[in-house]
Amino acid sequence: MSSVEKKLILQADKTADKTEDKTKVNLLGYDLEHMKAFFTEMGEKSFRAVQLVKWIHQFGVDDFAQMSNISQVCRAKLEQIAIIKAPEIAMEKKSDDGTIKWLMRLEGGNSIETVFIPEDNRGTLCISSQVGCALDCGFCSTARQGFNRNLSSAEIIAQLWIANHRLNSYVAGSNKPKNGVKRVITNVVLMGMGEPLLNFDNVVAAVHLMLDDNAYGLSKRRVTISTAGVVPALNRLREECDVSLALSLHAPNDKIRDTIVPLNQKYPINELLAACHNYFHGDIKKKQFIIEYVMLAGVNDSEKNARELALLLNTTPCKINLIPFNPFPDSGYESSKMQTIIRFRDILQQSGYVTMIRKTRGEDIDAACGQLAGKVKDKSKRLRNVNEIT
Ligand code: SAH
Repeated sequence: MSSVEKKLILQADKTADKTEDKTKVNLLGYDLEHMKAFFTEMGEKSFRAVQLVKWIHQFGVDDFAQMSNISQVCRAKLEQIAIIKAPEIAMEKKSDDGTIKWLMRLEGGNSIETVFIPEDNRGTLCISSQVGCALDCGFCSTARQGFNRNLSSAEIIAQLWIANHRLNSYVAGSNKPKNGVKRVITNVVLMGMGEPLLNFDNVVAAVHLMLDDNAYGLSKRRVTISTAGVVPALNRLREECDVSLALSLHAPNDKIRDTIVPLNQKYPINELLAACHNYFHGDIKKKQFIIEYVMLAGVNDSEKNARELALLLNTTPCKINLIPFNPFPDSGYESSKMQTIIRFRDILQQSGYVTMIRKTRGEDIDAACGQLAGKVKDKSKRLRNVNEIT
């Protein structure tokens, strides 16, 4: 075991020790605005907020004692009332293709999964936003788990914080400038377990930290929220945090979509695409619009479906990702044959859309799209009726 790994294990143990302390406020999930409010309430100057955000997220520090530019008196106060606490890593698996999956244990017995996907010119972290998922999309194994609860903003950003630690991409306790820190994670996608737009406030706070130059400093092209299409939340999103969007469309018409994405019965395709156009209005160059389309044999993969999809999108500037269905036991679905997927792609490309077939990554460790399961206690909270969604 390398010294870095030993240090990381110690780090995880230290984190576990802290779980007893429920009276302290966890600063890990505080974005700059919340952090400023926290310091003002403490009677401290608000510039402390920038210092704290930098220590926690830029330098990966979870121990107030290491925060050398903060006065001892202030640090002592912080020790009494606050904590910086991430979930524990319960398991780490590495795929033959370099993909890494972490199982993170949360307080209360649930766990979630986070996946790192290295590519030649970037490293993408796929993070979860909820324990399980309430949307009952039949082709997704997370849906089988049912829904337990929303993740806190700390639990969401912790996935990036922990992955950074594990990937050895930060310089602990150093005051090295940001551009001197090698960052392996260049992109974040909220495509893990859960529906991010049904955990709006916590997702927004975590995304603020991803974008903040004092924290991770990612551009809005490199942070992507993936959604099955919660229209009212989409309408709020542009004001609150302006990032790239992946729409899990998966069908060229309401008839098919109603059956595979039940949320469509509440927010049909025309309303959904109108909300997306509104979201991108005027600035499609600054953030990306990705259409996700899982290829299910005999369900949504005919040539007619491809032509229908091309018409539906009506030359909207977007990139289409065709996702070969990743199987899981008793799903009832099969992936389309590769030659069907290629034909589907060709039709969309001939219609002028940038269309890619997503390479499946991490299949050997169940880390591919739709295979994240975590551990969800009390699986009964599945959505029974789409009208339960507000
Ligand atoms: N709730 C969000 C984010 C989670 S799903 C959403 O719906 O977008 C992330 C992506 O993986 C979505 O596009 C989803 O539809 C896709 N997906 C789910 N199950 C899959 C499976 N078994 N095979 C391939 N892709 C899947």
